[in-house]
Amino acid sequence: MLPVERSSAGAGQHTGQRTLVIFGASGDLSSRLLLPGLGSLLAGPRATSVRIIGTGRSPLAPDEWTGRVRSAFESHGEIGQVAADTLATTEYVAGDPTDVEHLRALLELAGPAPVLYFSLPPAVTTAIVEKLRELELPEGTELAFEKPFGTDAESAAALNQLVGSLVPEENVHRVDHFLGRTAVLNLIGLRFANRLFEPVWNAEHIESIEIVYDETLGLEGRAQYYDNAGALVDMIQSHLLLVLALLAMDAPATMDAVEVRSEMARALRSTHLYRGSAIEAGRRARYAAGIADDRVVPSYADEAGVDAERGTETLAEVTVEVDTNRWAGVPFTLRSGKALGVARKEIVVKFKPLRHLPSGLNGARDGETLRIGLNPGELSLSVPALGVDGPYTMGQVFLDATLPSSSVLPYGEVLSGILRGDPLLSVRGDVAERCWEIVEPVLAAWRAGEVPLDEYDAGSAGPATWK
Ligand code: NDP
Repeated sequence: MLPVERSSAGAGQHTGQRTLVIFGASGDLSSRLLLPGLGSLLAGPRATSVRIIGTGRSPLAPDEWTGRVRSAFESHGEIGQVAADTLATTEYVAGDPTDVEHLRALLELAGPAPVLYFSLPPAVTTAIVEKLRELELPEGTELAFEKPFGTDAESAAALNQLVGSLVPEENVHRVDHFLGRTAVLNLIGLRFANRLFEPVWNAEHIESIEIVYDETLGLEGRAQYYDNAGALVDMIQSHLLLVLALLAMDAPATMDAVEVRSEMARALRSTHLYRGSAIEAGRRARYAAGIADDRVVPSYADEAGVDAERGTETLAEVTVEVDTNRWAGVPFTLRSGKALGVARKEIVVKFKPLRHLPSGLNGARDGETLRIGLNPGELSLSVPALGVDGPYTMGQVFLDATLPSSSVLPYGEVLSGILRGDPLLSVRGDVAERCWEIVEPVLAAWRAGEVPLDEYDAGSAGPATWK
């Protein structure tokens, strides 16, 4: 029997070896993100022994599977002893994941308290979860789900109910790797562990907040997924709303999953479209041919696998407000797009200018601006100062810092929590539903054609008409 220990914190956390069963192990996510993330965790100081069982319909020979895991681990650098031990014990079991007998055999092979990670198309995951109800899951079984979790609030709620019939909520991990990014985790320290920002982190002092994740990459052959999702669902509905939750939430009593996730949920429950208008709160656009990142990018509508008539947006912007005493009236603008000229990935917190300046001081009265880089993790605070263009003239000076980086990749960070049975970095069920609820009116307005689909040249900053 594998050792399964409960922490003194009583959170049902595991410290012994766990078995990670990866469904869809032959797929893109598994080899490009999940296994490299795990490799980075196993190479680092928090490495703990893991047994990996990969499964899928593809018939992979043992050497082929081990070779895939090894190259995923090596993609992040040298592998150490724990990763080598993991490679020595990993196995692949071919089979149809929706066949209940295959699932039974997998559970027997995995032993006590397995982690079942669904790296599969969402419909297949749902089919497997249905089948798992026919089996008795070992106590302590952890279930990990990839995004998207549902396709709208209703389907997310139905999936939550289904999953809740199998295991308790604290054993459910809705994965969003943004929560494993060092720069995102650093928001907690930046806000709650220093005296400078938290006292002014409110509508009294802050004019606006932007959360931007612009990419220079175009579609990169992902039409099958992306053309059905679009920028709003791909980025804003999940990743950027969670970043907003960390920016807007009140201080948790402790850094445990119950407290932190409750505060994040509370912030999102108060989040609504800015001024309540689904038509005015969002803008959308699609790229035309151009040159981005020195590469010729064809028009999105001409990309292989795209149905141009569907009108999928490749750039989305939604403005929301967090209707609390702390934030009422402050616009939070969330934006993400593809094939843009600059890979701008940052949070921009714009402080209000002071109400009064002594007469005799010249120049702009701009307030401070704090830029928090999401990738790479850089911090830049511009502060008003005198003497930039003369002794009594206002200007801005910059205080810049690079945030510490981690050798553990975001997927490794998230997996670290899942393997320990700690849902701190997993999206809670009600939050998954709430994130859909926030954006659904915008999606409905876009689908009904109530908001124009603007156009921008690949490699530009976005549509010329957008300020
Ligand atoms: P894939 O489309 O590559 O599918 C993963 C594996 O699922 C396939 O290799 C296949 O394995 C199995 N599979 C596919 N269709 C079926 C089916 N009808 N029945 C049974 N098994 C099937 O997906 P990804 O790896 O790209 O993504 C996995 C999950 O992660 C998805 O939910 C996706 O939304 C999410 N995700 C993906 C990201 C990415 O960059 N790829 C990023 C973020 C989230 P086999 O044929 O061996 O059974």
